[in-house]
Amino acid sequence: MLAAGSGTRFGGDKLWRPIGGCPVWLRSFRALSNPPVEAVGLVVPRGSEPGYASLVPGALFVVAGGGTRSESLANGIGAVPEGYDAVLVHDAARPFCAPDLVARVAKAVETHRAAYPAVPAVDTVRLRTCDGTTMLDRSSLLLAQTPQGAMLEDLRRALASGEATDEAAMLEAIGIHVVPVEGDPVNKKITYLSDLPSDCETRVGIGYDSHRFSDDVGRPLWLGGIMVPGRGLAGHSDADAILHAITDALLGAAALGDIGEHFPDTDPRWKDARSSVFLSAAAQRIAGDGWYIVNTNVTVIAETPKLAPHRAAMRAAIAECLGIEASQVGLTATTNEQMGSIGRGEGIACMAVATIARTRS
Ligand code: MG
Repeated sequence: MLAAGSGTRFGGDKLWRPIGGCPVWLRSFRALSNPPVEAVGLVVPRGSEPGYASLVPGALFVVAGGGTRSESLANGIGAVPEGYDAVLVHDAARPFCAPDLVARVAKAVETHRAAYPAVPAVDTVRLRTCDGTTMLDRSSLLLAQTPQGAMLEDLRRALASGEATDEAAMLEAIGIHVVPVEGDPVNKKITYLSDLPSDCETRVGIGYDSHRFSDDVGRPLWLGGIMVPGRGLAGHSDADAILHAITDALLGAAALGDIGEHFPDTDPRWKDARSSVFLSAAAQRIAGDGWYIVNTNVTVIAETPKLAPHRAAMRAAIAECLGIEASQVGLTATTNEQMGSIGRGEGIACMAVATIARTRS
């Protein structure tokens, strides 16, 4: 796999840009590391060998490239140990190469000695001539991709013969017929910054909370950020189990601890505190790490009170705490069919999930 190019059209080292948290070149490496490929060796910029090697301890080799693609290829081919008869040469800048494409090329090499994947031209191609330009017949044009495959001995011979932009051209120059196989439009080469997909990280968190009904008949019932007619829940704060479950789902998604850690019930500051304070603080804390909230969904398990009449107001209150739209807040309710403590009406339980996302820098 060739990772030694200068990437001058990109401006910076495109091969180390992450896609889904994984550098472009490492994605390419992993895409290649599937049967029938037995081993993958890497050609990298001189001096950067240790950085690459540390991430792929199983690589067949990691060697320095040269000033041109042919030189880099020659260094790579030179590093292939005895015992291999066919090689595939792949650009590290093609991270979306699917295992079945690799297998297709390998199979064609077995039958025809040399092969490359190709896709039809989708853009109109014009040829510059001495008196202007002329349009080429698109239906007769193929765009070559990698991995390109050949017998090792043929490639060694071709390399000795001169410079070319790819292996197929080099092999043809020494009279070897190189067979096109069906390429894959997805197998794009990352050339410009805009070729990289936006790198968005998404996380899911889960939260659970339950509180028993208070013996204090005068205690208000806070649920979903609003006061609801009914018996209050016992707890250090206002005991709003819905907000507590969502707070934990958010903190959990961002791996930032839990509600008990941030707002301990031993702290007098939180005595009878409104739980909207916890929820807003959790939202601000995760926003500080670059997260935004995609959605949250909470389900309430209780025999009483009936939540349907309050659903819209609760969703609005939760959305306001989180700085999102009510359409991003789901709220469902069920009973426990009179089973267990919740079923006997001793308290209320809530489960919540939250999805958060951020763009990786
Ligand atoms: Mg609680």
